[in-house]
Amino acid sequence: MAAKGFKYLASTAFFSIFLAVSGFCSAEGLKTVEVWKNLFTVVNGDGVDSNTTFLITRDGVVVVDTRVTPNEAEKLLVEIRKQTNLAIVYTINTHYHGDHTFGNQVFQNSGAIIAHENVRRSLFGDSGKDHLDSFKPENIHGLDKTVVTPPNMVFKDEMEIFLGGYSLRLIHVRGHTDGDLFIYIKELKTLITGDLVVYKKIPDMSDAYIEDWISAMNKLGNLDAEIYIPGHGDPGGKPVLLAMRHYLFNLKTLVLKGLEEGKSLKETQDAARAVLIKKYKGWENLDLIDANIQRAYLEYSLRKDS
Ligand SMILES: [Zn+2]
Repeated sequence: MAAKGFKYLASTAFFSIFLAVSGFCSAEGLKTVEVWKNLFTVVNGDGVDSNTTFLITRDGVVVVDTRVTPNEAEKLLVEIRKQTNLAIVYTINTHYHGDHTFGNQVFQNSGAIIAHENVRRSLFGDSGKDHLDSFKPENIHGLDKTVVTPPNMVFKDEMEIFLGGYSLRLIHVRGHTDGDLFIYIKELKTLITGDLVVYKKIPDMSDAYIEDWISAMNKLGNLDAEIYIPGHGDPGGKPVLLAMRHYLFNLKTLVLKGLEEGKSLKETQDAARAVLIKKYKGWENLDLIDANIQRAYLEYSLRKDS
């Protein structure tokens, strides 16, 4: 079923048109985009705008990430049920952050909730409670209904799911957090990246390992893909990946320059901030740039010392 359309998707220009015509909005503020036949991404919504992707196979549905509250996850179910009545066989968390996992309880009757082992550790017991507490200042509607639900099937490096004619490779890397995974669907030449890639938004680096993140970008770039579905922002072609890669590279270069010149954190922030804001002025979350520079400064000054 994939062969016919791929020659069209090879053209990024056509791909944008494809997305534009196949996206449709629902009443709840969600936008469900048919990225490819049987592959849908739900973007936007109330509050935090993390993406959920679902793949419909003849043997059931795979859901990737569950949004920020059970209420938002129920809306996802409505979006899924508009497309199919098949059972949800697997739910996957790309990493532990609540905007991708706090809807897990709605999917706990799927065959399994799968993630990297560090995601379970971060969501289990007191760690999970602390993480939920960290979201409370954001006043997200319905967050009080969240029962943190850790994944119940975990892996270390890599696993593969075969379902209804598709193969999904789940590959662990460290980058945005210590428990990231990305998913490669060979039959669709598609990568689902979690927050390793966010599109036209400055990434959150509060748990980041920046050098590992850059290596992860190379790993993603080496796979034969034509569609990139980010953790936040619209799906698209290779430019989605390249934009994130360039941001990380620019951040690293500017911070290394500051360190080499013996600048303090504040001096480095003052110099790098201006360059980054100018370069990325069209992106959202520019207020995260200072924290990103700080994270990079700490990481690379430690590396320098070692
Ligand atoms: Zn995240």
